[in-house]
Amino acid sequence: AEFDTLDIVVLGVILLGTIAYFTKGTLWGITKDPYANAFANANGAKAGRSRNILEKMDETGKNCVIFYGSQTGTAEDYASRLAKEGKSRFGLETMVADLEEYDFDNLDAMPSDKVAMFILATYGEGEPTDNAVEFYEFITGDDVSFSEGSDPALQNLNYVAFGLGNNTYEHYNSMVRNVDKALQKLGANRIGEAGEGDDGAGTMEEDFLAWKDPMWAALAEKMGLEEREAVYEPTFGIVDRENLTVDSPEVYLGEPNKMHLEGTAKGPFNSHNPYIAPIAESRELFSAKDRNCIHMDVDINGSNLSYQTGDHIAIWPTNSGDEVDRFLDIIGLKEKRNNVISIKALEPTAKVPFPTPTTYDAIVRYHLEICAPVSRQFVATLAAFAPSDEVKAEMARLGSDKEYFHSKTGPHFYNIARLLDTVGKGEKWTNIPFSAFIEGLNKLQPRYYSISSSSLVQPKKISITAVIESQAIPGRKDPFRGVATNYLFALKQKQNGDPNPSPFGKTYALNGPRNKFDGIHVPVHVRHSNFKLPSDPAKPVIMVGPGTGVAPFRGFIQERAKQAQNGATVGRTILFFGCRKRSEDFLYESEWEEYKKALGDSLEIVTAFSRESSKKVYVQHRLKERSKEIGELLSQKAYFYVCGDAAHMAREVNTVLAQIIAESRGVSETKGEEIVKNMRAANQYQEDVW
Ligand code: FAD
Repeated sequence: AEFDTLDIVVLGVILLGTIAYFTKGTLWGITKDPYANAFANANGAKAGRSRNILEKMDETGKNCVIFYGSQTGTAEDYASRLAKEGKSRFGLETMVADLEEYDFDNLDAMPSDKVAMFILATYGEGEPTDNAVEFYEFITGDDVSFSEGSDPALQNLNYVAFGLGNNTYEHYNSMVRNVDKALQKLGANRIGEAGEGDDGAGTMEEDFLAWKDPMWAALAEKMGLEEREAVYEPTFGIVDRENLTVDSPEVYLGEPNKMHLEGTAKGPFNSHNPYIAPIAESRELFSAKDRNCIHMDVDINGSNLSYQTGDHIAIWPTNSGDEVDRFLDIIGLKEKRNNVISIKALEPTAKVPFPTPTTYDAIVRYHLEICAPVSRQFVATLAAFAPSDEVKAEMARLGSDKEYFHSKTGPHFYNIARLLDTVGKGEKWTNIPFSAFIEGLNKLQPRYYSISSSSLVQPKKISITAVIESQAIPGRKDPFRGVATNYLFALKQKQNGDPNPSPFGKTYALNGPRNKFDGIHVPVHVRHSNFKLPSDPAKPVIMVGPGTGVAPFRGFIQERAKQAQNGATVGRTILFFGCRKRSEDFLYESEWEEYKKALGDSLEIVTAFSRESSKKVYVQHRLKERSKEIGELLSQKAYFYVCGDAAHMAREVNTVLAQIIAESRGVSETKGEEIVKNMRAANQYQEDVW
């Protein structure tokens, strides 16, 4: 009975489509595919849409808007989940909204029988995410002004707030904290607590779940909502396009937007529109047998892309063939993988997250994060579609019992297909509406890499230094393997004509949709960062970058060597590098010698090899040993940089630095910490950590 509405809507859509087809769309002014969704061109797609949120809510009959500020897709995912839950449990008329797409000067006109939710990630050094910059500047600005001019301005605004942060960063959850403060100051009424999720502690999902239940209770009371039994309703309808095949030119086989489909891709290249870049060169950097790290040079000559030393490059990965197969198989879609379908949003404010018409194969391979950890809430949702009552009960238990869920899933690194396979004891899950996956799984995210070259030396060639993610799982034959790094590894194998092109039993559609990536290409875009050398090369620099944390410093040192060759006076340049063994994973060992030819003794590479002696030595130990010199360099206004592991290394380096400063200036450690804080604020201390 649950599907009646869907069936009717889908039938309606088909009927409309049929009429449109027979009338060639002339009745409606449609001349093209009536189901094709936007993605027309990456940047123009938003043109002409109203930026007035109140108007949009009125038009679509909504009383709850969930704004998100998202960088890696998690905040966006949480926003969608709240929208879904609000609707199914409380009958709220919800919509999700990208902060970038609306104006906020009329927030004061939002009536008190509506509610706005803010799901806000903090990015990097306490910054807003790219899509939340304007909102953040507006709402926390000194001269914020609204249309109505009442006092206090936002007295009618009811809001809910949750932040996504990482406690290993200095400015933990500063986005939600500052926005909450600003909204309170403007007189808005917060409902429930302002929640905070902590990625650093690995508890983001549980923090979110623990926050949302009391929030719903408070909201229900405030708005007089009655809870009802939640019944799953799909957000998207799937329409079979039997007249189309994978050979039809209008079918998306993984192309990210229409320009790519039509072969007219052009810049600006950005997070909506990647450049399909040729890979100039790629090679292995480790000599260890069981671990891999690759160097890759990406050629951006054919694009208008540019970068600056210290920026990040985003790699758009594709899922591996074995995982795509596993996923399609367990949900019973393996035979239909190349069927052409269109996806229709069944409610006006929902957005289909990829272009259609397309195939199941293309969706799973290019657009869904099918390998990521599974959310407990999603498990609860899927229980209703279990192949048997027994499996249903187990799914329901996993979904509702936090301890049980973590003890059962934690050690196994399950992705969704592996979990369904295990819990269902191999039975196929053919009852799950495909819409549930579009709603419940994240969009496949580009991965960022710190550019490891200098734009002064190679302005049109971007270097990447990436360690391949691989982890042995007890009780499982194949190790866990990261999505993007193993894709890059396969590209490297192919480029070098390696006799084993499918490393670790992984295969990838390296040629891309319609062979568009043939000849070793990878889709990329560039993200500018604030991690920068001092503009005056004479200033000394101290860099701490163990492991792949060395990436941006290879770029920095390359740049300073070039500056020296060009006749500039270049200050002292010290790199603290750490790894396991000189003979295994000492990255760029021979290159440092080259740079020394230009920089002479001003360049020094201080190494810490953790597995060469019985006592483990790390970069922070080496820093301590060099306290005196570091203290002196800092008093000459040296710049201090840290790159790499955020969870442990960066914190410890921070602490050690405060101690060094305290010692060298004869002040307390607390004072030392304060000085480090001030250095951060003045950009004299910079972090690029992940
Ligand atoms: P993913 O598949 O994304 O997995 C990453 C991790 O998530 C896994 O190791 C695991 O801990 C967890 N995980 C994933 N799936 C599961 C599951 N099913 N169950 C349990 N746990 C799971 N990396 C570099 O090597 N070099 C760089 O220069 C570099 N620079 C960066 C700069 C920035 C600004 C940022 C944000 C990151 C940077 N990274 C860098 C990290 C990089 O972006 C990727 O996160 C990394 O390469 C792993 O990507 P992946 O797709 O291979 O792994």
